[in-house]
Amino acid sequence: SREVRLARRPQGWPVPEDFALETVDLPEPGAGQVVVRNAFISVDPYMRGRMNDVPSYVPPYVLGEPMEGGAVGTVVASGEEKVPVGTHVIHGQGWREFALVDAAKVRAVDPALVPSESVYLGALGMTGLTAYAGLTAIADLKPGETVFVSGAAGAVGQMVGQIARLKGAARVVGSAGSDAKVERLTGRLGFDAAFNYHDGRVKDLLGEAAPDGIDVYFDNVGGEHLEAAIGAMKLGGRAAICGAISMYNSTEPPTAPRNLGLLIGKRATLKGFLVGDHGALMPEFLAEAAPWLRDGSLIADETVVEGVDNAVDAFLGMLRGENLGKMLVRV
Ligand code: NDP
Repeated sequence: SREVRLARRPQGWPVPEDFALETVDLPEPGAGQVVVRNAFISVDPYMRGRMNDVPSYVPPYVLGEPMEGGAVGTVVASGEEKVPVGTHVIHGQGWREFALVDAAKVRAVDPALVPSESVYLGALGMTGLTAYAGLTAIADLKPGETVFVSGAAGAVGQMVGQIARLKGAARVVGSAGSDAKVERLTGRLGFDAAFNYHDGRVKDLLGEAAPDGIDVYFDNVGGEHLEAAIGAMKLGGRAAICGAISMYNSTEPPTAPRNLGLLIGKRATLKGFLVGDHGALMPEFLAEAAPWLRDGSLIADETVVEGVDNAVDAFLGMLRGENLGKMLVRV
């Protein structure tokens, strides 16, 4: 059985010397284990991150060991009667021809339900679920909205655009890196508009494709795409920060914030707001905070500048940081 091992940690774009194809003896299943002949193995962007030796939401690949990843195949030897020979399964021991897997870590799939069992690694697998979860649970897509997805011709992106449409989006816009991909988006996949991001600044291209702005941005790319999408957002816009592939091989971080990618591993949300929308909270706030102020459990420092003639100095002083607490002018 042949397997791909990580031979060296890539710097920037991986090169063939970072990997090694090794041949090993066919594994024998112990009790509770199965041997799977992999039919398809998945290659995914997140694997680039696992090639680095940095802490993340998935541990780094071990040097000299076969890499892991999604795979689908058929059980050819079994030490677990619940998963007999012939069962089609998905599991996490990709990057190899034959995999020795704990039977508890495989999931049986029905090849009769799909045109090819490969679908369980894509449209009905991890990448399809990513699209679905990002649009529904994270971006809270509503019928009638405009959705923009980057990396739109890829595994996740092609599902995002189509699921958005099926969920009632009024306008679906995608970006991709070639004219052939763009044609496929607006033709075969039914996107309303699409652009090749090599054709100019994303900001301008997105402005043409979504002249009225966007409600939801599904970010697969990060960087300039995310910047443009934030610029194009309508009031109450949402972004599902799914990936930042434009940065996975870069050795130089972009200008700040350089760690937007951490939002993914931390499952964090950034959400804009305006105090003016929350006036209804004022009575509740006063009822809670006024007693704190009176009993000293809330401190309210002020810096007071004397005279309206010093108001501009007070203002500029505030910008320079000369205030402690609230800067005020006594008139
Ligand atoms: P894709 O099938 O989309 O393949 C990657 C694509 O990225 C390429 O086809 C390429 O298309 C595009 N790309 C590469 N470099 C750049 C760049 N500099 N700028 C813009 N596009 C670029 O991969 P997936 O669908 O599997 O993954 C898409 C994204 O979703 C990735 O960021 C991935 O990390 C993320 N992801 C996140 C998950 C999560 O749980 N948060 C789960 C699964 C995926 P093109 O020709 O258009 O440039």
